[in-house]
Amino acid sequence: MPDYDVVVIGAGNGGLTAAAGLAKRGHKTLLLERHNVPGGCATSFIRGRFEFEVALHQLSGMGFPEFPGPLRGLLTDLGVMDKIEFIQQPNLYRVFIPGKLDINLKAERAAAIEALIEKFPAEKDGITKFFDLLYAFCTELVGVLFMNDPEATPEKYPLFFKLALKNAQGILDEYLKDPALQAAVTIYWSYAGLPPSRLSFMDLAMMIWAYLEFKPWHMKGGSQAMSNAICDAFINFGGDARFNCAAKKIRVENGKISSVITEDGDEISTKFVVSNAGPIPTLIDMVGAENCPSDELKTLNARTVGLSAFTVYMGFDCDPADMGIDKATNFICSTTDAELGHRKMKSLDGAEFSLMTCYDVDDPDFSPPGACQASLVTLQYAQPWMAVPPSKYYDTKYRFAEKLIDLAEKAFPDLRKHLEEAEPATPLTHMRYLGHPGGSIYGSEHFTRETSLFVNSKSAIQGLFFTGAWNGSGGFQPTLQSGASAARQISRLLKKQ
Ligand SMILES: Cc1cc2nc3c(=O)[nH]c(=O)nc-3n(C[C@H](O)[C@H](O)[C@H](O)COP(=O)(O)OP(=O)(O)OC[C@H]3O[C@@H](n4cnc5c(N)ncnc54)[C@H](O)[C@@H]3O)c2cc1C
Repeated sequence: MPDYDVVVIGAGNGGLTAAAGLAKRGHKTLLLERHNVPGGCATSFIRGRFEFEVALHQLSGMGFPEFPGPLRGLLTDLGVMDKIEFIQQPNLYRVFIPGKLDINLKAERAAAIEALIEKFPAEKDGITKFFDLLYAFCTELVGVLFMNDPEATPEKYPLFFKLALKNAQGILDEYLKDPALQAAVTIYWSYAGLPPSRLSFMDLAMMIWAYLEFKPWHMKGGSQAMSNAICDAFINFGGDARFNCAAKKIRVENGKISSVITEDGDEISTKFVVSNAGPIPTLIDMVGAENCPSDELKTLNARTVGLSAFTVYMGFDCDPADMGIDKATNFICSTTDAELGHRKMKSLDGAEFSLMTCYDVDDPDFSPPGACQASLVTLQYAQPWMAVPPSKYYDTKYRFAEKLIDLAEKAFPDLRKHLEEAEPATPLTHMRYLGHPGGSIYGSEHFTRETSLFVNSKSAIQGLFFTGAWNGSGGFQPTLQSGASAARQISRLLKKQ
């Protein structure tokens, strides 16, 4: 009799929903987390009088009770909906590119299109047709992927079959000419970590559609509140959790999982493992390459490690309005060129692209009275940071933070005047806290061949499943859903035994 039906490694979004879903179905489940709190990226930390949100800028996939998105159903199923207070955000985002663009898009299809046409009247026709195409494509995509239509044929779903595997840029070029207009429509590429030339149209379209239809949301208490609520639900369903307890080895016998060994040397027998630690550490360090099927190693070898982030967590001694901040989500860039923006993410020369989220705009109680906080982030690959000698790390980090604040001050010139607390985090910080190669926050790079259409959550090693950002898509909604999906698959197998 194994000690546990399932051992879940890692309490990020994917690990938490997998663990809670399994425990809810009555399976004896152990959750191991190397850090001292649940959440992975979905967490917060305290500096001075501020509790800073680490990762969540806008939650997608919630929708409304009468028009629920996939996340609302998932959280309701785990019994945590009434433990979290959600606030709907009225805007998708503002994009500010000095001298080139200043536009705010409301989180509503007609209003967003109207704002785009007002700025780019000559492109009215292309804008309208682009959104018609995007909506028609997403309607087909929902039929094929989410309703699991067993008769999904190219005749029935022509747009899906024609466009799902195309890169976004080619389609954009057909409909939208002005680079500033393309930037205004596609700025969410940063939420997937690839510029439109390398991002699948499916991933970009789905993101825009999902935020427009199910709206962006903020949570009171930030993402840590959700991580705590899911972890509590797991424990209430009868699950066991060990924090400060990393999984070190996964023992495989005759191609099947047999046990997990913790860093304390404890060996826990089980037939199923869900790993939220990503396939590279799981297969190479924990299972050991010598125990992995060679085809799986070849597939792993073909994947590239995705982007991490550089963030300055900023606490201010005033209300957002005192600095002219009236929208929560502000993309501040120095160029319309996403390619250039993406290239700069491989260097320490400063950023062309940033996102500044001021949570207190939509949730005035988020920070202490009379204060507010903003997370100012750009994406960065880890390589240049790994090449910085330790003696120069702090200097490099603070210089990079200064440059990022310079960029943000182009939109909000009084930021420094009110800055009370500032904590920069680099890709090395994310490597340290998450344990992922390159501190990647979206897993591997999800090129068209790496989208959720192709990535398998099930290893060839019997009983091993993957969940989280490395498994098809990064971001909150996909990772939470990937854990729920792993729980369903394993539960079916356990019930058959
Ligand atoms: C600065 C920043 C901004 C972001 N902005 C957004 C946003 O606005 N919208 C959005 O949707 N997404 C955003 N993301 C991305 C999103 O947060 C992540 O893609 C998602 O949370 C990853 O979830 P995951 O399930 O892959 O687990 P992760 O968060 O990667 O957590 C993995 C967990 O596994 C644990 N672990 C690793 N190895 C072991 C081991 N050997 N034993 C035990 N435990 C282990 C780690 O400690 C960690 O807790 C952002 C992320 C960051 C950092």
